[in-house]
Amino acid sequence: TTDTTDLKAHIRGIPDFPKPGILFYDISTLLRHGPAWRAAMAQMADTIRPHKPDLLAGIESRGFLVAAPLALELGLGFIMLRKPRKLPGLTIGLNYALEYGTDRIEMQADAVQKGQRVILLDDLLATGGTMAAGISLLRQAGAVVPCAAALIELTFLGGRSRLDVPFESLVAYD
Ligand code: 5GP
Repeated sequence: TTDTTDLKAHIRGIPDFPKPGILFYDISTLLRHGPAWRAAMAQMADTIRPHKPDLLAGIESRGFLVAAPLALELGLGFIMLRKPRKLPGLTIGLNYALEYGTDRIEMQADAVQKGQRVILLDDLLATGGTMAAGISLLRQAGAVVPCAAALIELTFLGGRSRLDVPFESLVAYD
């Protein structure tokens, strides 16, 4: 079906991935279904358009799959927030805490012009740590972040409360 209200029918939960006790929501089945993926992107475009973005940003790597087609749909540019040492040229980065240890994201220092409205996208919001770090990094680069969005939100982890911008999602699991 192409009905976006049925998005959940195209997302599967895989138990014990990447480790025992974790239920991983897999978007591969949504990506491989052309009409459902197109409908999801159309719904996301309608969701973020009112926030009047100048640019879209995606978080490596599934965030790229969301942000790049939306940028095309909205006629906007797309920038990458990447794992360390992947981007050429002058970069800025931010370390952030994980459950165990730390991680780091980087972007090109000149990717954003001061005051540009950049919406940050990912496939899924869990604890919100990744999205919060991405928002901070975009601001460090001079961006205004009017909102953040993900296809999926794990509401039981309360990730949106860690964000200081409006957050949009298409489906929620609790
Ligand atoms: P957070 O930082 O919010 O705890 O974790 C979100 C990040 O981890 C996102 O970049 C997302 O891609 C990834 N992630 C965590 N859990 C899942 C999951 O169940 N499914 C998918 N597709 N990604 C997940």
